[in-house]
Amino acid sequence: MQLSMRPVALVAVLTAMWWGLAGCDGTTFLIGQDQEIQIGREAAAEFDREHNVDRSSADARWLQAIGNRVAAAASPPDYPYSFTLVREDVNNAFALPGGPIYFYDGLIDSLGRDEDQVAWVIGHEITHIRQKHAVRRIERAIGAQVLIEVLLGGQNTAREIAGIVVGLGLQDYGRDNEIMADQLACRWTAGAGYDPTAGLAVLETFKSIQGEDPSDFEILFMSHPGNNTREDAVKDYLSEHNMSGRYYP
Ligand SMILES: [Zn+2]
Repeated sequence: MQLSMRPVALVAVLTAMWWGLAGCDGTTFLIGQDQEIQIGREAAAEFDREHNVDRSSADARWLQAIGNRVAAAASPPDYPYSFTLVREDVNNAFALPGGPIYFYDGLIDSLGRDEDQVAWVIGHEITHIRQKHAVRRIERAIGAQVLIEVLLGGQNTAREIAGIVVGLGLQDYGRDNEIMADQLACRWTAGAGYDPTAGLAVLETFKSIQGEDPSDFEILFMSHPGNNTREDAVKDYLSEHNMSGRYYP
């Protein structure tokens, strides 16, 4: 791209490039799986620099063991999933494109260190990765971001992109994607040998936490569908698939 191009022409070319590749509905994937994994790794490194992450303690290995079981149930497609404990008192878990999943201490405590419930939350996050919810959003956001940066004559560094990806990872994915993640989480949880109804207990816990401190919500809590809607969607899914357990006999 010649920098001497007139701005209007540059806008036209870049806009045509972006919409031509992405499609107006943004559903055509620009980012291949290898790139998706690479973007997620860089974003994870950026997150790690700024947070107290733990991959080696007994607690971290406990989390990884649950995650590996759920990931096996959710494959294919295969992703290099990783499960990292964040030593912060925050009620959250989130996914980055291509495999990294972070789980905060605060949420593990709120769930009473219950393996079935932790497994369901991991299943929810895995769904955002394997259904490409995470990478789709990055494609849209980075595409627009790159366009803006080029127009302003700036340059994106890998680290800036990584920061954007982390920021997006902490937001919710919208109603339909969140309900899909809740429902498929039941399937992966069951496939891994955990109680597929544990999601109902998690959603109950979210309701009580939301009542206490509305500011302490991130990806799992900020979702557009209310928790009652999410519970109903989970119950529908469990009924349709003849799944039962401790929280839905
Ligand atoms: Zn979600």
